[in-house]
Order: sequence, then C-alpha cells, then structure tokens
Amino acid sequence: MKYVSTRGASPAISFEDVLISGPAPDGGLYVPESWPTFDLARIRNKPGATYADLAAAVVALFAGSPEWYRDIDKHAHEAYAKWDDKRVAPLVPFGEHRWLLELFHGPTLAFKDFALQLLAPLMNEALKRRNQRALVLAATSGDTGAAAVAALANQPNIDLVVLHPKGRISDVQRRQMTTTTASNIRNVAIEGTFDDAQSLVKQVFADQAFARDHRLAAINSINWVRIAAQAAYYISTSIALDKKALTFAVPTGNFGDVFAGYVAKQLGAPIRRLIVATNANDILARAITTGNYARGQVHATMSPAMDIQVASNFERLLYESSGRDAAQIKRQMESFAATGTLKLAPDALAKIQTLFAADRVDEAETAATIRLMHRDARLLVDPHTAVALTATRKAAPDEDTVVLATAHPAKFPDAVEKAAGVKPELPERLRWILTAPERYDTLPNDLAALKHHLAAKR
Ligand SMILES: *Cc1c(COP(=O)(O)O)cnc(C)c1O
Repeated sequence: MKYVSTRGASPAISFEDVLISGPAPDGGLYVPESWPTFDLARIRNKPGATYADLAAAVVALFAGSPEWYRDIDKHAHEAYAKWDDKRVAPLVPFGEHRWLLELFHGPTLAFKDFALQLLAPLMNEALKRRNQRALVLAATSGDTGAAAVAALANQPNIDLVVLHPKGRISDVQRRQMTTTTASNIRNVAIEGTFDDAQSLVKQVFADQAFARDHRLAAINSINWVRIAAQAAYYISTSIALDKKALTFAVPTGNFGDVFAGYVAKQLGAPIRRLIVATNANDILARAITTGNYARGQVHATMSPAMDIQVASNFERLLYESSGRDAAQIKRQMESFAATGTLKLAPDALAKIQTLFAADRVDEAETAATIRLMHRDARLLVDPHTAVALTATRKAAPDEDTVVLATAHPAKFPDAVEKAAGVKPELPERLRWILTAPERYDTLPNDLAALKHHLAAKR
C-alpha cells in the first residue's frame, strides 16, 4: 500500500515510512492511495475471533504487505492483553436504541491507548529495521502525554520527551507521566500554557537541521496508523450489534477519532451517520453546518482534550469530499493558513452533510448530562463523553446510536464530582501513582532552552 499527500506535491511513501513520519513535506497529510475492502462477513463468522484479531486484520489492510502482518498481529495481541476488560471495547446499553462504547479500559484510561499501544511497538520495529533511533517530541494538555508515556516506555529504539504546561493539568494526568521509571522517557514542565508548549514543539520541528540531526519524530493523531487502529472499534461494534445501520456520536477535537469512523465506513461498516460533538471550541460544528471553516479563540472547558481550534485531520475529509482533488486542497489549506478561514465548495459540503451531523455543546449542558446520566442510568461519565451524549439529541429516538466514551470519569474527578455529586474512584491498579515519586524538569517558555535540553541528555 502506498500513501499520498492530501496536497499532492510530495512523493508517495510506503507503510513503513508512514509509521515514522509526521506531515508530508508539502504540509499535507498522508492518506492511503486507495481504499482496501474488508470482508466483514468473514470476520463475523470466524468463531472465537478476539478484538486483537480484528484490530490486526484492519491495520494489516493498510500495511498491504504480508511481511508486516506477523508483527502487526503479534503487537496487537500484546497490546490489547493489557486492557482491564477482556472485551477491550465493551458496549453498555443505556436506553432504547442507545449504547455507550467504553474506550477507557486501557493502560491510561483514555481511548488514545487503542492506537498508541499498537503504534509504539510498530514504530520501534520500523526504526529497528533501519537501524535507527528516534526522538519523539510531544506537547500534551493531558491524555496524549500519559498514553504516549505508557506506550513508548522502554521501546529500545525510541526516546520520548513530553512537555506539559506547568501547573495547568490535573494531578492525576501529571502523575501518570512523571511517575514513569523508564529511562527512555523525560518529562518537562514548561512555564507557560499548553499553547506555549505546543508552539515550542512546532518551532523545534520547523528547524529542519535540528530535526534531522536528532531524528525527531511525532506521534500525534495525524499519524495514519493511529486512525487505522481506531477504525477497528467501529467495526467491532458493527459486528457486535449487527444492525442494518448505525449512528456514532463522537467527542471531537482534532477530528482523528471521528475520521476513523469514516474509514470504517469505507471498509464496509454499516454506518449511517457520524455525529461530530464539540465543546465551546466549535470550529468543526460551524464548518459542517455552514460550510465556513474559520479559526476562533481557544476556550478552556472541562473537556480539555477537545479545546482545539484547528482540527488537523479535517483536511483528510476535505480531500475525500473534493473527489481527492489535491490541487484544490493545497490552495484551500494555504489560504486557510494565511487568512484563518476557508469556504467549503458547495458540492463538498453537500457530500459531507450526507454522512456527518455536528453539534456544539456548552458547559452547563455538559454538566447537566453528567448529572442526569448518573441519576437516571447510574452511569458516571467523563466530560468528553458527556459532550457526545448531549449531541445525540441530533439523532432520531429510534435511530440505533452508539456514543463513544473516550475517557474514564476518574481522569476528571473534580468536574464529575461537581456535576454529579459523586467522586469517581481511580481503578486500584493506578492508585500507586498518587504517592509515587515524580521525575520532571522545569524549563522556561524558551526555544533555546528547550533545544539545549533536548541535545544535552541524549
Ligand atoms: C483526544 C481526545 C478526544 C478528541 O479526539 P480527536 O481524535 O482529537 O477528535 C476526545 N476525548 C478524549 C478523552 C480525548 O483524550
């Protein structure tokens, strides 16, 4: 399988390259040059097939070469064996035609484990084959950092440096990262906001000589393998529920998770609609309802993993809905970078609206949903999940609808307690982090200081 850039001005690359690449050199994102097809019926009828079997089959479609299949299968089985719930992605009914898809039973209690636990060893494998070592650099507002630390810990060919904004993430989120004992991981508290940390990361990557000399790599959600791994739970759900058509409601930030739903549909999953649920950071809700993709101010909410204004993966949907017109996407994205706005072509918007619905949910509605779910269904849900639950009002009452529960409520204990009056407990196996020693460095919000730090300790 070859991968092409959404902006069409970079050469096609292989699956192995995609494993360790960030954006394409032309600024676009890599997408598979064609959609593979998936024999849903064959998997459905395979007795005893596990979640790991299914995930390996889905990701292997995108490798497209038998030499990768064994590694993918092995690492998928090792990864999903770490989940607390043997079903890996269990479905919990909570009303007529409604299910929660619980994606928080992995090592760090958020859905990002699904992709990162598989991507990390595959990335290591790709580096090993080339006899290379990479330095992964990431900034986190919480969940990504914890999932990256857990996934990359002790990978022999990878070092990880994670930046978090000092004093601005929850104690649980920080301790999930800083209590690691893995010697290939370094945590850095930046004296600034998440945007400051993110901007430092972008500036380090933009220094091409530095990036090359230190073999910088990224693991953010533009990595295709993350999307492919996430498509698997849309397919496992379709198989488990066996409905003619399903709607999924997805708490959305960078558009990676909901785009994985689009991919599952291309592979043959019977998906009728995808509901894009955003918090007050509603650039996607506005784009999908009006056709105007326009950057706004970032607002801090109780669902911080979705406090994003520019949703990188939306470019992949624009590419698809333009009929894969890379020249048009290049023009549109360059003008978006310059002006902060982009107007969708009418036929692209019409295509998007046949599959996607979108809704913006405010803080009061999110809190009310957390309270009502606890009162009426005895379910404690985290604020991200609550945003998607609220947005399911866009689905008809008799439309079979699955709401993605993307984080465990105990990752956001204060917001959940405030709304529901009950404090969610951290699972037993994670409680040690609350008292374990922490290890991190503190740096000023300064590019030279960060580069010095990255170069020094390798
Ligand atoms: C990352 C994250 C999201 C948003 O997912 P995207 O793929 O960025 O749209 C939603 N909920 C939680 C808990 C997350 O960590």
